[in-house]
Amino acid sequence: MRIARFSIDGNVGFGVVEGDPADDGGQTIDLIKGHPFGDFDRTGRKVPLSEVRLLAPVLPSKVVGIGRNYSEHARELGNTVPDTPVVFFKPSTSVVGPGDPVPYPTFSRNVHHEAELAVVIGRMCSQVPRERVGEVILGYTCANDVTARDTQRSEEQWARAKGFDASCPLGPWLETGLDLATAGDLAVMCTVNGEQRQLGRTSEMVRSIEDLVVHITEAMTLLPGDVILTGTPAGVGPMNVGDEVAVTIEGIGTLTNKVVKRD
Ligand code: MG
Repeated sequence: MRIARFSIDGNVGFGVVEGDPADDGGQTIDLIKGHPFGDFDRTGRKVPLSEVRLLAPVLPSKVVGIGRNYSEHARELGNTVPDTPVVFFKPSTSVVGPGDPVPYPTFSRNVHHEAELAVVIGRMCSQVPRERVGEVILGYTCANDVTARDTQRSEEQWARAKGFDASCPLGPWLETGLDLATAGDLAVMCTVNGEQRQLGRTSEMVRSIEDLVVHITEAMTLLPGDVILTGTPAGVGPMNVGDEVAVTIEGIGTLTNKVVKRD
């Protein structure tokens, strides 16, 4: 099931995305009552997808990022895969939705795209044992872990390099129908202005989704809507003002954002 968060006529809600873009009537959104964490009812009111503005599918209390989780990507930046996963935060204010502009940060001259599978947590959880990881995941979406590469290299911590405004596009919706085995073997692609830059599979991750949820929740409680960015495959590179960057994940969809000059 694809669950989108959207706005229409000034109201924000969640709905189930149905249909195929190739269908005569196109895709529709079936509005749901309340939020998608837990059981929910459909209202029966359907609106064309083209009439709503899609928003980031969740508003996370925190986005937990994982660095160097694909060995080929670690190598391309001159790094090795660390013995312990690199864990960092992106603040809630870094999250934007599909189609939202990404203003180029004024302190950087080398901003990179990083296409990533995003895991969305469905219930409050801590100390999650490996065999229960599937129970705490609501679904998956596409993410771009936008990174000021020069700042990442020049500053000890990555808070500014990876936490600036709009550095975490998420969307276009939440796919809830993937089990862990399926989510662990999906194609992840990034294009810039239609040209392919990154292509990998989540099966190449050094640490699996289960590994990451166990590792993170050993230290901290995750809340409904929290997001884990699972790392990026090789092929990262610059995104410049005017560029249209698209992250596509097999079985989920495409997240597109344009880089703009910061006012
Ligand atoms: Mg990343």
